[in-house]
Amino acid sequence: MICPECHAEYLDHIIECGDCKVSLINASAVDMPLTKMTWAALPPFQGKIYADMAAEILEKNNIPYYLKMDWTASAFSIESATIPGEVVRIFVPKDTLEKASDLVSSISGDSE
Ligand SMILES: [Zn+2]
Repeated sequence: MICPECHAEYLDHIIECGDCKVSLINASAVDMPLTKMTWAALPPFQGKIYADMAAEILEKNNIPYYLKMDWTASAFSIESATIPGEVVRIFVPKDTLEKASDLVSSISGDSE
């Protein structure tokens, strides 16, 4: 299932987007390039300012992406409990994931 607003993917038994409060649509019923792509999530960003920086880099490199706020994760994840603010996930097409992670790795704070 796909949210028509934010294009987040959900399991089949979910009928409403938790973020947008709109009814989800069946992915196979939608004839959009978006649904034919497999999306993969980059490591979460602690706050929208970092996500925006990452998005800018992706844009410059012509990598399509979408952002998804994850309020629940920021409220319940022990790992991010020390950092107030929202967790933002960026989704990119799976075949660009490696390149995208590389490009934004300095921003997400993961300096391996
Ligand atoms: Zn949504």
